[in-house]
Amino acid sequence: MNLNEIKVIAFDADDTLWVNETFFRDAEIAFAKELSAYGDEEDIVRILLDTEIKNLDTYGYGIKGFTLSMLETAHRLMGDKMNSEITEFILEKGKQMLAEPVDLLPHIELVLEQLSKKYKLVVATKGDLLDQERKLIKSGLIDYFHHVEIVSDKKETQYKKLVKHLDIKPNEFLMIGNSLKSDVIPVLAMGGYAFHIPFYTTWSHEQVDEAINHSKFKALSNAKELLEIL
Ligand SMILES: [Mg+2]
Repeated sequence: MNLNEIKVIAFDADDTLWVNETFFRDAEIAFAKELSAYGDEEDIVRILLDTEIKNLDTYGYGIKGFTLSMLETAHRLMGDKMNSEITEFILEKGKQMLAEPVDLLPHIELVLEQLSKKYKLVVATKGDLLDQERKLIKSGLIDYFHHVEIVSDKKETQYKKLVKHLDIKPNEFLMIGNSLKSDVIPVLAMGGYAFHIPFYTTWSHEQVDEAINHSKFKALSNAKELLEIL
């Protein structure tokens, strides 16, 4: 590992800079409770998850797609009994999620402030454009970043494009994020560096079982550790 070659550091946003997954977990539980007359709550959460994954290609990631998947799941469970009460509950839940405050993760601001003196910092996130922009503005972090990349998915192709756009070589790029699947594996595959900082909960669709063993990979327990390494 030759960290001296790193020129640009990219941060994932959701559950790396700020809390996100918690809102989805809470919404799933509230949704299942609301529909508990139509099935076992655990089963309802599982059906909702299947619906979300099935819809990813159509709706992409984010709260709006999640809201549509809640509507579809309710319709599947309730059939003709679907009523305005449940419809309103779901739409309201989605809007509540979109209005949540942005809760920064520990030490993030300090870390960005320090690293921005030495490196070019960028955000690389997937999800809904409007919602990610809203969170970035609310976060107060936007001025630390040279560039914000909001993509529909984070695979090797998107990282190659980003590196090309930044006019650097893959080995001059470091990605930091909470998802092994989106923030680590495709970046290592491209030839970049990737550091993993796990969040306490990971969406099951983002989970991978493989243990990463790679010369350009590091697992950290919190963002502050970055200041000891970089
Ligand atoms: Mg994330």
